[in-house]
Amino acid sequence: MAEPAADVERMEFQLALRRRGISNQAVLRAMDEVPREHFVAADCAESAYADQALPIACGQTISQPYVVAYMTEQLEVRPQHRVLEIGTGSGYQAAVLSRLAREVVSVERYRTLADAARDRLKTLGYANVAVIAGDGFAGAPDRAPFDRIMVTAATEEVPEALVAQLAEGGKMVLPLGARNGPQYIVKLTKLPNGELEREELIAVRFVPLLRGQAKEL
Ligand code: SAH
Repeated sequence: MAEPAADVERMEFQLALRRRGISNQAVLRAMDEVPREHFVAADCAESAYADQALPIACGQTISQPYVVAYMTEQLEVRPQHRVLEIGTGSGYQAAVLSRLAREVVSVERYRTLADAARDRLKTLGYANVAVIAGDGFAGAPDRAPFDRIMVTAATEEVPEALVAQLAEGGKMVLPLGARNGPQYIVKLTKLPNGELEREELIAVRFVPLLRGQAKEL
């Protein structure tokens, strides 16, 4: 009997991630469990599992699956971890993180996106994710410290508040670089003396991290 198309699509999705070098089983499982078609715009549902970024509301994008998986793998999330994400967008990355962590707090500057992501995550049953409408440059001080922090929009400098909210031994993964220049995923580890160990990873292209909460929406 022929397999339903959806299963073939999911197998190809997993295969594409493995081929590109994602090898962590827990990350691959999380990517398999989260139904990406629920996080993209209805008119993009057909391309949901293609390895590309897709538009969401407010001129923003949901990152391409490989980059989501790669950043997640690099973050080295453990089941006891509390994770902060900056840039909720559709909530897809937060959903993937929620499969690996104890708790995820995600901050989004557009209230419209934050409200939609919160509803979506609740409907899909991701009970350990809290979505906050606010300015990610400030992090979530009342819920700090975090064992892991992921930023999903690009900045030139590591936001100070986020470094302050990272637990000792904690790790942060974020795209760094100028808006129109080269950007790299950077992984930071907070050492016991408070200093940051820094590793430059792959080249990427992200929408910018903008200051302040969005006024228009
Ligand atoms: N992680 C998202 C995609 C991120 S796109 C997903 O899985 O769908 C980047 C997001 O960061 C956008 O939604 C943008 O509005 C948001 N953003 C940009 N600057 C921000 C800031 N200062 N604080 C919080 N969110 C911000």
